[in-house]
Amino acid sequence: MSEIKLPEAFVLRMKNYLGEKEFPAFVKSLEKEPRVSIRINPYKEIDLKEDVTSVAWNDEGYFLSERPSFTLDPLFHAGCYYVQESSSMFIGHILKYIQSPKDGIFLDLAASPGGKSTLLSSFLGKDGFLVANEVIKTRANILKENIIKWGLGNTMVTQNDPEHFKNLEGFFDLVLVDAPCSGEGLFKKDPEARNEWSEDNVNLCALRQERIMDQAGALVKGGGYLIYSTCTFNEKENEEMIRFICSEYAYEPVRIPLDPAWKITESATETEDGIFYGYRFYPHHVEGEGLFISVFKRPEDDYIQEPKKTKDFKHSHIKAASKQESQRLISDLGLDEESTFYSLQDSFFWTNARYQTYFEFLSRFLNIRYFGVELGKFNKDQFIPNHEFAVSILPKMGMTTHELSLSDALSFLRKEDIEIGDIPEGWVLVTYRNNPLGWIKNLGNRINNNYPKEWRIRMR
Ligand code: SAM
Repeated sequence: MSEIKLPEAFVLRMKNYLGEKEFPAFVKSLEKEPRVSIRINPYKEIDLKEDVTSVAWNDEGYFLSERPSFTLDPLFHAGCYYVQESSSMFIGHILKYIQSPKDGIFLDLAASPGGKSTLLSSFLGKDGFLVANEVIKTRANILKENIIKWGLGNTMVTQNDPEHFKNLEGFFDLVLVDAPCSGEGLFKKDPEARNEWSEDNVNLCALRQERIMDQAGALVKGGGYLIYSTCTFNEKENEEMIRFICSEYAYEPVRIPLDPAWKITESATETEDGIFYGYRFYPHHVEGEGLFISVFKRPEDDYIQEPKKTKDFKHSHIKAASKQESQRLISDLGLDEESTFYSLQDSFFWTNARYQTYFEFLSRFLNIRYFGVELGKFNKDQFIPNHEFAVSILPKMGMTTHELSLSDALSFLRKEDIEIGDIPEGWVLVTYRNNPLGWIKNLGNRINNNYPKEWRIRMR
């Protein structure tokens, strides 16, 4: 039982929403251990144990029967799955229902640590493009790490205030805003959140959300979708925000079909543009955390901004690769002809050629922290591969691979010296259950472990 009491004003409001009869079940559910769930990466290899159960609204989501040590699972570091509470996976159901184009361009405006971004990235797969943005620098680093491990190469990580997107009106097929909020839905997982809660903070969060949505509402193109979510229950940060968005922009409501067995609570908000729907995930009804989510559609005939093509790509740090460099990367690494390459401080990055114009246009306005897949650099006639390339899903033609045992995989991830007999000299891609973990270099008399120092695991 958590020692931290629920704030009185919060209790009054929840009693009001749920009624005196239902409220005790809500409070009781806050004391239960949250159920652990993961969402698998459909582009990597993972065999799940038999005792997992599916998350009803997402084909890639599974509940585990107990919490394992994720840190000591090499597949976690290989980006084979993301540990995500099940309510957030509902976005998968929304994407399926609205039939958003898979070759679309999406924006996740408040993305760190990347739970929802990795879901969007999986949905877009090899055809679409995602901008995953996080305004806070340290949090943008975490987002970058998770996007690199997910490895699909369809994402650009940016670190910008929502205001910096103002030139991108009508640009995105889908904009997700998982807004910073008062966190009432986290009272179960993180009892400390109860201490941080106050009526003043709810008001402050609502003001911040208005500022964010004022920008975000403009970024969706005609026919595109806006998804707004919070992990809080109060109406001020949820239904009031629906009213705010509708007062600022012309949107059409989207009603998502629900299976009654899911026990998701639908709310209806009347606005001048019709009735808009919100979906609440209460912890006494569902197994995940508290969540609120609402979907809006921009009218088909609304403004669409196409990226302007430029003849020569100009950027303060990033350079377009030359024809020769591109040809060499394609032939040496066995990459698709449909690739565009850029360099940053001698290191080459891969992107899908289909998104060249989009990427180059976006790079004029946004502070880019990562994009595509960082491949590595040439040193005379040798190619020095980067870790980011190893964990990406790009092919690694002609590279020697070596499968590690669990204990060797953990030594590698701890960046310890590892001893492996019988491998050729040079770069070797080490794998665990067929999933790349990174590079080692066999120098003949010793083996260099090239796992990134800042990501090494310290747990024994
Ligand atoms: N979508 C993420 C996920 O599923 O992993 C969680 C996002 S979290 C609820 C909200 C994020 O908004 C935080 O990372 C926070 O740093 C960021 N944020 C804070 N202030 C912001 C602001 N003024 N504008 C945009 N984002 C902000």
